[in-house]
Amino acid sequence: MKKPPFSPESLMMSYGYKPELSEGAIKCPIFQTSTFVFKNAEEGKAFFELAYGLREADKDEQPGLIYSRLNNPDLEILEERLSLWDGAESCAVFESGMSAISSVLFEFLEPGDLLLYSNPVYGGTDHFIKHVLKKFGIHTLGFKPGQSVEEIRQLVEASGMADRLAMVYLETPANPTNALIDIRACKELANSYSNPKKQVLTAVDNTYLGPLWQHPLKQGADLVLYSATKYIGGHSDVIAGACLGSKELITRLKTLRTFLGNMAGPWTGWLLLRSLETLKVRMEQQARNAQELADFLRDQEAVEKVYFLGHLKPEDGEQYRIFQNQCLSPGAMIAFLIKGGEKEAFAFLNHLKLFKLAVSLGSTESLAQHPASMTHAGVDPAERMEFGISDNLIRLSIGVEKAEDLIWDIRQALSHVNSWKEEAVPSLV
Ligand SMILES: *Cc1c(COP(=O)(O)O)cnc(C)c1O
Repeated sequence: MKKPPFSPESLMMSYGYKPELSEGAIKCPIFQTSTFVFKNAEEGKAFFELAYGLREADKDEQPGLIYSRLNNPDLEILEERLSLWDGAESCAVFESGMSAISSVLFEFLEPGDLLLYSNPVYGGTDHFIKHVLKKFGIHTLGFKPGQSVEEIRQLVEASGMADRLAMVYLETPANPTNALIDIRACKELANSYSNPKKQVLTAVDNTYLGPLWQHPLKQGADLVLYSATKYIGGHSDVIAGACLGSKELITRLKTLRTFLGNMAGPWTGWLLLRSLETLKVRMEQQARNAQELADFLRDQEAVEKVYFLGHLKPEDGEQYRIFQNQCLSPGAMIAFLIKGGEKEAFAFLNHLKLFKLAVSLGSTESLAQHPASMTHAGVDPAERMEFGISDNLIRLSIGVEKAEDLIWDIRQALSHVNSWKEEAVPSLV
């Protein structure tokens, strides 16, 4: 479809949908149907020829609707609209973020290949890389936050499997500490291991800042991944995922999706279409709130350190440089260290009144959680410390509420956390 000269937020209500095909309905209906009726046998044959790649499409010939595991209007329109934010050629939507991620790893890796990946990654991804890929004979090599591209290259060389490197998988900013990874530099690393027969792909999980505030494809990445459960869905009421990239790569991914059968259903597609209409206003309000909250937290006596991209300064060197080059906003995710340990962290969490104590992120309501015992409980304890996930770390996902109300809530919850003071008093005897 030719892209009209409007910004994505102007197109989210209409792009890719033709009311005349749906009785004039202004909104795309939910096409709750498993199969589609062909006008005649010749049409059915033509649709299948395209779906199975038996011949090239004629000029202006669109793939026809056959069966909802292959395609469905709610998914196709959603994929076209999602592509606009990242300026992607093509998009594939899945029933969860994990199914998008696992499908990408399955489609683009083969037994004997080496996967290089950043740490920490989302807990489900971590498990899939460490435990599932291994069963398929895929080698994996993780690098740590803060390692330079030169150090990462040395790691690849030392692995003895440099010639088998097939993909660089990144999650930036890293969850939960907001540590940044230079996408462009990693893409150059991938290129340096590519040859005319083999392109080493770079894939980026952009759930934390996308699709508004970071565009990995523009930084050179080949594939961008989302848990659409987060900002894209944005209302804590749907699980979904997406992958975007070139037509060539996404066609391969959609073919695997057809045979795994892990596409999103029409109801999920419809919910996300609705969510996309307010994506920008939601995310902008969330980012404004997050900046106010992060500034407030920084000044609190009970708070030891705040991890927020909006607080990066030139003195922070590499991290500041990456932020300037790669991110369009500090986003709406904050992590902070409370003075004390798990006891103090729990006292804070248990006294919140407006924030909800729940995992997930990017939704309209603000959420708080304790990574060490919740989202990252499955990570090896020694690695947890290396990644900065200590017992006094709290992660906040900021919603669209009134900033003053959120600040009120944090202030009153912090006022219940006093034990660190007692423990900090030096003994007089
Ligand atoms: C939630 C999340 C996932 C997994 O997505 P689901 O939709 O829960 O399957 C992957 N990556 C990141 C960064 C996430 O936050």
